[in-house]
Amino acid sequence: MQVIENAVAGKRYQSASTRRVPVFNPATGEQSAELPLSTVDELNAAVASAKKAQVDWGNLAPMKRARIMFRFKALLDQHADEMARIISREHGKVHDDALGEVARGIDCVDFACGIPHLLKGEFSRNVGPSIDTYSDRQPLGVVAGITPFNFPAMVPLWMYPAAIACGNSFILKPSERDPSASVFAWNLFMDAGLPEGILNIVHGDKEIVDAILDHPDIKAVSFVGSTPIAEYVYTRGTSTGKRVQALGGAKNHMVIMPDADLDQAADALMGAGYGSAGERCMAISVAVPVGKATGDALVAKLKPRVEALKIGPATDKDAEMGPVVTKQHRDKIVGYIDKGVEEGAKLVVDGRGFKLQGYENGYYVGGTLFDDVTPDMTIYKEEIFGPVLSVVRAESFNDAVSLIQNHEYANGTAIFTRDGDAAREFADKIEVGMVGINVPIPVPVAYHSFGGWKRSIFGSHGIYGPEAIHFYTRLKTVTTRWPAGIKGGAEFTFPSLK
Ligand code: NAD
Repeated sequence: MQVIENAVAGKRYQSASTRRVPVFNPATGEQSAELPLSTVDELNAAVASAKKAQVDWGNLAPMKRARIMFRFKALLDQHADEMARIISREHGKVHDDALGEVARGIDCVDFACGIPHLLKGEFSRNVGPSIDTYSDRQPLGVVAGITPFNFPAMVPLWMYPAAIACGNSFILKPSERDPSASVFAWNLFMDAGLPEGILNIVHGDKEIVDAILDHPDIKAVSFVGSTPIAEYVYTRGTSTGKRVQALGGAKNHMVIMPDADLDQAADALMGAGYGSAGERCMAISVAVPVGKATGDALVAKLKPRVEALKIGPATDKDAEMGPVVTKQHRDKIVGYIDKGVEEGAKLVVDGRGFKLQGYENGYYVGGTLFDDVTPDMTIYKEEIFGPVLSVVRAESFNDAVSLIQNHEYANGTAIFTRDGDAAREFADKIEVGMVGINVPIPVPVAYHSFGGWKRSIFGSHGIYGPEAIHFYTRLKTVTTRWPAGIKGGAEFTFPSLK
């Protein structure tokens, strides 16, 4: 059985921990590897090495750091296919979807290649007589990232390329369910010439997360995962004086106006609702058609599409959707479908009991569609994170908007319409972090930043893009006076007011 290794101070090693968890191939249900849950001593050793290595790295010319990023990006491009296979083996998503994830991760490395430009400060000449002021962004030191299972390559790449390009060293704690993609990327980064100790991987569970949150030498933590854990990480991390950005769960609504192209909207809902088996924080899990006629027509268009979904392992080139990540997660999703039926929603397509010949032990759930879902139902209130789309009917545009405003999650949302006025008002008023107009999954490109609102985020910085530069650096502003100095004697007023 393969044992997944930590990567610290430039070397991979097997954790001495006796606590181990299995890693499964969700397509077959077979165990593919074993993951030791590292000890706190191992984390402490990683932080000590990261702290030492950061001193020189933080002082290195940004151009030299950027050159390593360029080489890392080239290696990721070269090995994208292999990386996608590793992702699919442990996550279950289909190959093209995994390739897409790798591509979006590489975009973030691309952004980090521009670090000499991004770190440039500001300069003001003559803020007072012979006085100049400049501001500069300096690295924080050792920073950490704790990541979820659903994007095992992309979400870590949202974090560490920018953090490292800014001059920090990084401790990554990947998801226990699909940890191998991170180790693969670490190898490539080392091959690109990254000095030892700058990127370190320490696998583990809550014990390591807590040790990260409490460690005095870790200055900032980026977290992506479910809302209860995001809130916990934010509260505990900030209580020990760290900067924390913690991105949480979602329940993304798509409003379909009566004037929308319904075929286009139905196709968009298929990709956004069932792609990656619904295990995306930007998946659309609630469709909100406005008006009875729109709702009836939309459900009629969705039903055959959901029934025709091609479900299979990543090795099947025709598969549109793979299994979900674990047996426990599959059971949880099926439990939600049961609950939806119990609470009175209309089950239009039932994905329970889906079996795939030859893959009977895989963790598959068929595409599921509910109609007549109401806001008081559990399947509406909670994040299911599976291939289950709920249709909640709204009588008017205003009803649709207030439905979204009243949900605790506010990661992403979309509206499908041909009416510019409705689209503009929606984008303007909706209290959600990322909005799509006729775009179902409005994930910002790498040179913008990503982040929800309300209980989809804790902390004041979005992730990647320009927000990352602010999060992973601190501002220093220096005011200088040359050459008159203080020869004239002490002063008791602000020089800039003279
Ligand atoms: P999760 O919250 O279970 O786990 C995330 C990380 O937290 C993992 O590394 C895990 O080891 C750690 N963790 C789990 N339980 C913990 C505990 N009790 N104490 C301390 N650490 C703990 O999330 P997941 O199931 O891996 O990922 C799915 C969730 O992530 C969904 O809710 C999804 O919406 C969310 N997500 C959000 C975004 C976003 O950008 N907002 C992106 C991707 C995923």
